[in-house]
Amino acid sequence: MAALRIIVVGGVAGGASAATRARRMNESAEIIIFEKGEHISFANCGLPYYIGEQIKDRAKLLVSTPKEFADRYRIDVRTHHEVLRIDRENRQVEVLDHRSGRRDRHHYDKLVLAPGASPIIPDWAVPDAPNAFTLRDLVDTDRIKAFVDQQRPTRAVVIGGGYIGIEMTEVLAARGIAVSLVEARTHVMPLMDDEMGARIESVLRENGVDVRAGRTVRQLVVREGRITGVGLADGDVLAADMVVMAIGVQPNIKLAVEAGLRIGPSGGIAVDGCLQTSDPDILAVGDAVEVMHLVAGQPMRIPLAGPANRYGRLAGQRAATGDAPSATPVAGTSIVGFFGKAAGMTGLSVRTARQLGMECTAVFAIGGHHAGYYPGAEQMVLKLVFDPKTRRVLGAQAIGGGGVDKRLDVIATALRFQATIDDLAGLDLAYAPQFGSAKDLIHMAAFIAQDQSDGLVRQIQPGDPVPAGQLLDVRTEAEVQRGTLPGAVNIPLQRLRENLGRLDRSRPVVLFCGVGMRGYVAARILQQSGFNDVWNLAGGYTLQKDTWADSLARGSAH
Ligand SMILES: Cc1cc2nc3c(=O)[nH]c(=O)nc-3n(C[C@H](O)[C@H](O)[C@H](O)COP(=O)(O)OP(=O)(O)OC[C@H]3O[C@@H](n4cnc5c(N)ncnc54)[C@H](O)[C@@H]3O)c2cc1C
Repeated sequence: MAALRIIVVGGVAGGASAATRARRMNESAEIIIFEKGEHISFANCGLPYYIGEQIKDRAKLLVSTPKEFADRYRIDVRTHHEVLRIDRENRQVEVLDHRSGRRDRHHYDKLVLAPGASPIIPDWAVPDAPNAFTLRDLVDTDRIKAFVDQQRPTRAVVIGGGYIGIEMTEVLAARGIAVSLVEARTHVMPLMDDEMGARIESVLRENGVDVRAGRTVRQLVVREGRITGVGLADGDVLAADMVVMAIGVQPNIKLAVEAGLRIGPSGGIAVDGCLQTSDPDILAVGDAVEVMHLVAGQPMRIPLAGPANRYGRLAGQRAATGDAPSATPVAGTSIVGFFGKAAGMTGLSVRTARQLGMECTAVFAIGGHHAGYYPGAEQMVLKLVFDPKTRRVLGAQAIGGGGVDKRLDVIATALRFQATIDDLAGLDLAYAPQFGSAKDLIHMAAFIAQDQSDGLVRQIQPGDPVPAGQLLDVRTEAEVQRGTLPGAVNIPLQRLRENLGRLDRSRPVVLFCGVGMRGYVAARILQQSGFNDVWNLAGGYTLQKDTWADSLARGSAH
C-alpha cells in the first residue's frame, strides 16, 4: 500500500509545526512542504530586531533549514515552489517551481494549508518606490536593513500603530532615525482601549517619536520615483527618507477560495475544532484561518505566532494519524516591547466586548511591578475587564516595565478556565519583594473589581460621561501643583474628614487621586458620612487626564 502522502502549503510557523509533528506521529508518511519563498521556519517575530541590530547574526533568524528538515525529519522541503491551485476532486495540487518555471501536479491524501497573511497595501501606496517598505519575511528584512545601512536615512514615517508599526518605530529609532508614527484610529494599539493606547503614546513621545494618532494618510509625496513625504488628511506633510507601511495583514485565502472551501464571516478560512476545512481532507492553520475566540465565543482572525504554532502541531498530528486533541479557543494574548516598556492584552477589551453586545466593566490597578521598597520597581497599569453580573473575567490589558508578561499570562490562564474576579482575588502567586507584592497587582485589580461589584464604590471609566456635580481632587497640594483636572477643588485625603462641610451633600461628588486608591478611600469616607451620590474616577489622574476631554465631550458638566 502506498504511504500516506501529506502536503503542507507554507513552511514557516504553522506549516513547519504541522510537518514536523506529522513526522513524529507517522514515520512512514511521505511529507512534502511547498514554500513559495526562499526560506522556511524563520523567526518572523525576530525580524524587526535584526534591523535594529539587537540581533546581530542573521543566521539566528533561521530557526531551521530544508537540509535540517530532510536530515532530522525526512521531510521533503521545496522552497521557491508556489502552490497555484487545489484540485479537490482528484486530490492534487498544481505547483509552480519559480526557479525552473516548471508546473507539476502532486497527489495528496491530506493537505495542510498554512499560507499565512500578506501586508495590506492601501490605494495611496507607492509599493515600487525604493524607499517604501512592508515587513513580512526575510527578503523584506534584508531590503530594509540594506536601505538603513547604506542610505543612512534620517527621517522615517511608519504608517500603522499596531504591533509591527510600534516595533519598527523602536528599531528605526535605535538606528538613530527620527520617526513619525501615523495611526488612523484614535490611539495606537487600536485593539487596546483608548486610555491604554494614550499611555503607550506618552512613552513613545517621551522617547522622541512624533506620534500622529487619529490622523489618516491622504497621499504619499513622490519625487523622481522616491517618496519624500507623507501627506495627511489634515494637511500636514511629514518629510520622509523612508516609509514603512504596517497597517495590518490580510489572510492569504486565494487558494482556498478558488478551491471552493468555506470562508468564515471574518474573512479567514473556516475550520472546525479539528482544524478541518469544509473539505475533511484539507486542514488549515495560522494567519489564513479564523479561530474560535475563547471569550467572545465566535470565530475571529487572530494573526499571532502562538496559535499558528500550536494549531499547526495539532493539524499535523491529525493529518498523520486521523486523530488529535481539539483546538483550544484563542484568547488573543499578545505583547509588544518598546523603549524598555511593554504593553499587551489578553481576552477582550472594553471596546470589543461592547461592540459584541457583551455586558462589561473594568477596573485599573496601578502600582509597582514588585514591592516598592525593593529597588527597581517600575509602575504598571493593569486593566481588568469583567462581566459585572456574572463576575467572569473577560480580559486584561497592561502597560509597564517589568512583569507585564507575567500578569497577562496569569490572566490568560484564568480566562482559559473561565475564572471570576473572586477566583483571581484568591490566586496563590509566587512572591518575594524582587518579583511581586504580597498583594500582587492582579489581586489588587480583583479586589477593586469585587468592591465595585459589591457596591462599595462606583467608578467612572476613562472617557465615559461624568455626572454634573462637584469634582474633588484628594491628592496632596504638591501633586496638584503639577497638574489637575479643570474645575477640580482640592481637599487632600488626610484633611477630608474635617472639611466635609465644604461639600454639598445634595449634589454628586466625583473624586479622583493619583491612581484610584486614595479616591476609593475618600469615597468610602463620604459614603459613610451621608453622601449618597459619590463616584471615583478609575485609574485616577494618571489615566483620566488623557481622556478627560472625551468625558467632557460626552455630555458631562461641572
Ligand atoms: C515582523 C513580524 C513580527 C511578528 N511578531 C510577532 C510576535 O512578536 N508575536 C506573535 O505572536 N506574532 C508575531 N508575528 C505574527 C506571526 O509571525 C504570524 O502570526 C505567524 O507567522 C503566522 O504563521 P503562518 O504559518 O500562518 O504564516 P507564515 O509564518 O507567514 O508562513 C506562511 C508561509 O506560507 C508561504 N506561502 C503562502 N502562500 C503559498 C503558496 N501558495 N504556496 C507555497 N507557499 C506559500 C509564505 O511564503 C510564507 O512563508 C509577527 C509577524 C511579523 C511579520
